[in-house]
Amino acid sequence: MWRGVILLKAVHMKAEGKTAYIPKESKDHNQISKELKDLVGEEFVADDVATAFVYSRTMCEFDQYLPEFVAVPRTTEEVSGILKIANKYKIPVQCQVRGLNMGDCHMSLDGGIIIDLRRMNSILEINEDSGYALCEAGVTYANMRRELNENHPGSTIQYGFMPAQAGFVSNSIVEGHLDRSCKYGASYYNLLSAEVVLPTGEIAHVGARGLVNSWNRKTPAPDLLGLFLGGWYGTTGIITKAAMRIIPRPKYDDVVFVTTPDIDTACALPGELARTHLFDGIGAVDWRCILSLTTKMSSMPKERPDGFPETSMDIHFSSQVSEEELEFKRKMLESIANKNNSKVLPLDAFGYETERFCTLPMVEGTPGGLGPFFSGAGKGSGLSWIGGLGEDKHFKELYMKTLEIYDSYSSAHLFPQICMYEMDWGHVGCFRTMVSFDRADPSQVEKVRNINREMVRLMYDHGYTLYKAPKFAEDILMKDYADEGFLKLMKKVKETLDPNGIMAPKRWDTEES
Ligand SMILES: Cc1cc2nc3c(=O)[nH]c(=O)nc-3n(C[C@H](O)[C@H](O)[C@H](O)COP(=O)(O)OP(=O)(O)OC[C@H]3O[C@@H](n4cnc5c(N)ncnc54)[C@H](O)[C@@H]3O)c2cc1C
Repeated sequence: MWRGVILLKAVHMKAEGKTAYIPKESKDHNQISKELKDLVGEEFVADDVATAFVYSRTMCEFDQYLPEFVAVPRTTEEVSGILKIANKYKIPVQCQVRGLNMGDCHMSLDGGIIIDLRRMNSILEINEDSGYALCEAGVTYANMRRELNENHPGSTIQYGFMPAQAGFVSNSIVEGHLDRSCKYGASYYNLLSAEVVLPTGEIAHVGARGLVNSWNRKTPAPDLLGLFLGGWYGTTGIITKAAMRIIPRPKYDDVVFVTTPDIDTACALPGELARTHLFDGIGAVDWRCILSLTTKMSSMPKERPDGFPETSMDIHFSSQVSEEELEFKRKMLESIANKNNSKVLPLDAFGYETERFCTLPMVEGTPGGLGPFFSGAGKGSGLSWIGGLGEDKHFKELYMKTLEIYDSYSSAHLFPQICMYEMDWGHVGCFRTMVSFDRADPSQVEKVRNINREMVRLMYDHGYTLYKAPKFAEDILMKDYADEGFLKLMKKVKETLDPNGIMAPKRWDTEES
């Protein structure tokens, strides 16, 4: 329930431990609204607080930031036109697909225009031969899955645990982790060439498509794609079309669980398996995560229940050529697991919920929402996470210290769900913790904020960089960890591309930190 309104420069509403920031109306509000409506159509522009409030909703512990306008363009030219209007009136712009990144990287922290890319959802070309799909920026995992299943059954894409409506292109932009990332690397590598609209509204192509009429690769070409991918969070321009990697659908394919008996094995075995170069995907979740998925319990026992494994890994393996190759990989897995006192189990080992969770991509697995993630959340259904990429040799220390951090906030209702993934055959490890909490309980919101601050420092101290980093984590990074030369270079790049400073102000803001 909203409890109060404080009038400052803009309006701030406080409720349940959070603040909603409502920006002051621009002096040219009506004129900007008219120009946006003339450009993209009356029904695709909103300038009212009610719509803005919906766009500021967050499942996390962060405050809410309302935009002043929402515009939902259909074409690249309309995106370009919106940026030109924003430059003319010097008002901020941020773009989003569905706001599902969990670091609230899609929020406009300073009012202005939210560009909602969801109408740009055409799949323009599927090139199975060279393995890419040319997509508009708002294409979702559900769109891709339907198109490939119905019209290109020989090809597939990698999936994660995200909801069906999550963006396929935006997942690459934020460097997601997917089910076959051990073999194919982070989702970042799936974006090959792109059409972009620069902050000033000019349109350009980057990747090989920037030099020749070919979309299927980034290089050889000066790699300007990096100006838009992997953590810029929309501060340098807007990708409007992208060639995204698709992969051959494995002819022979299997997924099994491998359960580990103790923390040492839990943290070392993923790396050992990755370095065999045999398995497409290796992801481990801890016993709290399994319990919370399978039992929906809202408080967690302090000790691991008798007979429960420390972690369960889902291991994906496949062959394009024969059942024998698949069988060989299965045998190797069993042998390595045995040697490590670990067990290979079928996917129904923990019951229906986990089997469904691991076999159906979330595209089908969460028709009603994000249910499995919120067990333990109580009525407020909050979910937060901190995740980063680094070296897997630190898994054990991160695991132990995560438990210490959560212990120090002693709450049976706030427990970490720890996940560890392998990428690029062990070259990169992904460590993340999720926490579900009651957003209606201010003390839980506050605790999650404090826990996450400590988690962020833990990750940075071990040389991990965060993906989908929330603003507070970015500020800590710039203030206490980042190289000065790097920050100066970033500033130069941003100022060159965006002379009026309209793109997602306050993100990567070196002056602020
Ligand atoms: C329950 C749950 C489970 C999840 N599991 C996974 C998982 O297993 N693996 C995984 O990788 N992710 C996972 N995610 C994260 C999420 O689904 C992805 O990050 C998603 O693909 C991006 O969300 P979105 O499409 O809503 O993008 P948004 O959240 O709308 O945007 C993400 C960021 O990219 C920027 N951006 C978006 N589009 C563009 C563009 N065209 N040009 C420039 N910048 C742009 C935005 O400004 C923002 O900063 C999960 C999320 C949830 C809620």
